[in-house]
Order: sequence, then structure tokens, then C-alpha cells
Amino acid sequence: MDLHLKKKVIIVTGGAKGIGEGIVRVLAEEGAIVVIVDRSQAAGEQLIADLSGAAYSPYLICRSLDGPEDCEAVIQEVGGQFGAIHGLVNNAGKNDGVGLEKGSPEAFNQSVLSNIGHYYYLVHYALGYLKKSRGAIVNIGSKTSVTGQGNTSGYAAAKGGIMALTREWAVELSKYAIRVNTVIPAEVYTPLYASWLSTFPNPEEAKAEIENKVPLEHRMTTSEEIANTVAFLLSDRSSHTTGQHLFVDGGYTHLDRAIT
Ligand code: NAP
Repeated sequence: MDLHLKKKVIIVTGGAKGIGEGIVRVLAEEGAIVVIVDRSQAAGEQLIADLSGAAYSPYLICRSLDGPEDCEAVIQEVGGQFGAIHGLVNNAGKNDGVGLEKGSPEAFNQSVLSNIGHYYYLVHYALGYLKKSRGAIVNIGSKTSVTGQGNTSGYAAAKGGIMALTREWAVELSKYAIRVNTVIPAEVYTPLYASWLSTFPNPEEAKAEIENKVPLEHRMTTSEEIANTVAFLLSDRSSHTTGQHLFVDGGYTHLDRAIT
């Protein structure tokens, strides 16, 4: 199926590694003009080198999305370079383990803000372009917002907020035909995931145990599987889908535990 994404300008935050990298690869294959926004310059440059055969080489903005000024600068740069924005994938985030016992009010505030702030700031500054293009926004959430995980209050609160904002923005932006959806992964083996597993006494054993709990094929979801759903939601093939929370997780979040 042609997703009609050729020459569409699409921003992917955290696009240098993991799930974001998977999204960049799929969008580049579809012929989109992808803008990677990531603080990891080396990984971003390596990915662009890997994609040298793509119709449009991805454009890298190396920046940490800390505050509104970073996000405003990103949108200004993309607007200046390409004159349009058709899609925004809010993906950058970190499960930073700020809990009730291992945490503090200050760390909680920081964790929430660093995981949800730039989602809002980027949409806010990109709105003029998205209105013109009748664009699409895809947020990346996390199953922790509906299952809990323990010891990650800030991240879980931010990801729950992202699900709420998806509905809220879908309502506010429907009058401009801007669609807003969230893709929710559960277990995807990425650099972030590997670093979390490395905190276990036996990471390989822990990984096998987790895989065994995934109903569909007892394996983790791949970044490409997340990316395929994201690409569909960015495309006009999903032209009447908005305000939705899509769990791309092999049934991990919702299926009966009896089968695992
Ligand atoms: P990852 O492997 O750490 O890759 C994320 C990339 O984004 C990294 O290059 C990271 O840079 C960058 N990044 C993070 N925060 C940033 C910021 N504020 N500004 C600029 N760059 C930033 O992470 P991932 O596992 O692919 O996760 C991607 C998204 O999926 C996150 O929102 C995460 O919450 C969500 N998710 C992942 C899983 C999973 O199983 N992996 C499950 C549920 C939800 P650094 O390496 O320098 O930090």
C-alpha cells in the first residue's frame, strides 16, 4: 500500500535510536523528508549514513528538548529549511525511575516535565504549519500509564498525561482536520530497554522471563512494528482515525494472563 508520504516533512523526536530510529527508517523508505531531533549526534549521523540510499536523506537537528526555547528553535529551523510540516512524532522520553520511595518532589517534577513538556511545546510551536498542511500528530506513550510498573511515578504520570492530551488535542484540533493519536508500546528491545535490563542481577534471564509474558509469539515488539503503525497513523490512509490509543504490544497489556 502506498502511504502517500512521499516528500512529506515529518519530525521524529528521539529519532536517532531505538523506537525513533525504527520510525525514521520506515518513513525514509516511504520517501518522506524526515527530520530527526535527538541529543545523540553520533547515533543520528550514523543513521543518516545508513539511509544514504533513501530518496531524501534525513535532516538532523542535534538538540536536547529541555525547555520551550529548544522546541521553538526546532520548529523555526524546520520551517526555515522546508517551509512546511506535515507530521510530528513525539517520541523522545525516558523511564527514569523516580518513584515514591526512591525519589523526591523535585525529582518527580523534573521527571514529569522532561517526559511531557516537549510534547506540548512542539505541538504549540508547530501549530501554524500543521493547520496549513492538515497534518497529523503521533505521540508515543507507554503501557506503564495503564498497568503501572512501580518506582516510576514521574514517567507513569507523564505517559498518562500524554494519553489524556491525545484526546484533548484531537478535540481541539479537529476543526483544522489535524489528527492526533497515540501508539503505546509495552516491551521493545532498544538501547533504553537494554540499559534498564542491565540493572537486573541476570539481564538475559530477566529478558527471557519478560518475553515469555508476551501473549503473541512470546517475544518483544520490534521498533519496526511500532514504526509501521506510526507511519499508517501519519498517512491519509488513516484519514478518519483520531484521538485513539493504539497498543502495539503483542497483547501484553490487555489479553488474559491465563494464556501466558
Ligand atoms: P531510547 O532507546 O533511549 O532512544 C530514545 C532516543 O531519544 C535516544 O537517542 C535519546 O538520547 C533521545 N532522547 C531522549 N530524550 C530526549 C530529549 N529530551 N531530547 C532529545 N533527545 C532525547 O528509547 P526508546 O526505548 O526507543 O523509547 C522511545 C519512546 O518509547 C519513549 O517515549 C519511551 O518512553 C517509549 N517506550 C519505550 C518502550 C520500550 O520497551 N523500549 C516501552 C514503552 C514506551 P539519549 O540516548 O542521549 O538519552
